Amino acid sequence: MSNRTLIIGAGGVGNVVAFKCAMNVDIFGEIILASRTVSKCNVIAENIQKKTGIEIKTAQVDANFVDKLVKLFYEVKPHIVINVALPYQDLTIMDACTQYGVNYLDTANYEHPDSAKFEYKEQWARDKAFKEAGIMGLLGSGFDPGVTNVFCAYAQKHYFDEIHTIDILDCNAGDHGYPFATNFNPEINLREVSANGRYWENGKWIETKPMEIKQVWAYPEVGERDSYLLYHEEMESLIKHIKGLRRIRFFMTFSESYLTHMRCLENVGMLGIKEVEHKGQKIIPMEFLSTLLPDPASLGERTKGKTNIGIYAQGIKDGKDKTVYIYQVSDHEKCYDEVMSQAVSYTTGVPAMIGAKLILEGVWSDKGVFNMEEFDPDPFMEELNKQGLPWQIIEK
Ligand code: NDP
Repeated sequence: MSNRTLIIGAGGVGNVVAFKCAMNVDIFGEIILASRTVSKCNVIAENIQKKTGIEIKTAQVDANFVDKLVKLFYEVKPHIVINVALPYQDLTIMDACTQYGVNYLDTANYEHPDSAKFEYKEQWARDKAFKEAGIMGLLGSGFDPGVTNVFCAYAQKHYFDEIHTIDILDCNAGDHGYPFATNFNPEINLREVSANGRYWENGKWIETKPMEIKQVWAYPEVGERDSYLLYHEEMESLIKHIKGLRRIRFFMTFSESYLTHMRCLENVGMLGIKEVEHKGQKIIPMEFLSTLLPDPASLGERTKGKTNIGIYAQGIKDGKDKTVYIYQVSDHEKCYDEVMSQAVSYTTGVPAMIGAKLILEGVWSDKGVFNMEEFDPDPFMEELNKQGLPWQIIEK
């Protein structure tokens, strides 16, 4: 029996997931791309048809409503639902999956629209409902979270008796030529980078001011870059699952120009997420800013340069100190040539497709809600090499 795959969300990441599922059509079978604005799905479907010859279907859905989602599920009868809409829709889509009884996957953890705080609590709380429905939920199957979790599990499985410290290193050295733009959804991106930083050491979280801690890291194939400590969601699950961990931090690169724009926007209140009144109309400054900024999907064509994302782990093997750096380099222009998206969407969409593929094949299989590092990393690492995200290891 052929599978049916439902993808929700037709942004930069949804485009890559739809392309890559079409390129693995023998596994994904009938592919349906649904989103709030169906015209965006239709453009992607046309591009896929032109570039791969594969036809996918499209549908309209507002994923903020469980009943609308369940109705769509009864029409489509999916074997898996890939959620690449926004983190605000995670809970409604998960609840629709338990009501209908279909496996679920996403790339970003739930974030409440009214508070810039993202955490797994509410998604983990659905574990029982998923078990009772006999379905699997795979959380955070993008690059970070996602591949970074798998890199940690791979390091733990093959290179360490105990990992003591992990630094997750995310470098985007791409240049899109605009003075200021974000590489994925502007609202989600700006909320993430303007929040306080946080890292975990000796059993507790330590909070920092936004961008307070800076280090210079040398990224293979890119060079040295200023990297800033941020809170990032995969740390919340990794501290539960990596043996002997004493510290975990997350660093992301930003250029001086990006930071100057950010500071300026923040100082004038444009990053606010509370409603303000403007000439009798209520607007949310961050939402308005998102409308003004270039659509991330439009950056693909103009972005040049590379990304390098990886994990730097230190610990003990056979009583000796050990260091392992696992990383993946992607080239924006090559990604665009393949699937008409820049590398940030590509590096998120490919792992989403791989996670879904492993679920459909029964290679990763269980009942309940899981993070990526809870499964055997080896088949995922193999797929990365085959599906366009080859990785490297440096060990000392
Ligand atoms: P975009 O903003 O480009 O796309 C989001 C899509 O979701 C749009 O098509 C939008 O529709 C749709 N959408 C929004 N609200 C709804 C709704 N209520 N019902 C149905 N569809 C809706 O975002 P990206 O593609 O850049 O990002 C997608 C996801 O990937 C996000 O959750 C992001 O956080 C995550 N991500 C994860 C990364 C990782 O490494 N783990 C890295 C980068 C992103 P419309 O066009 O109508 O607005």
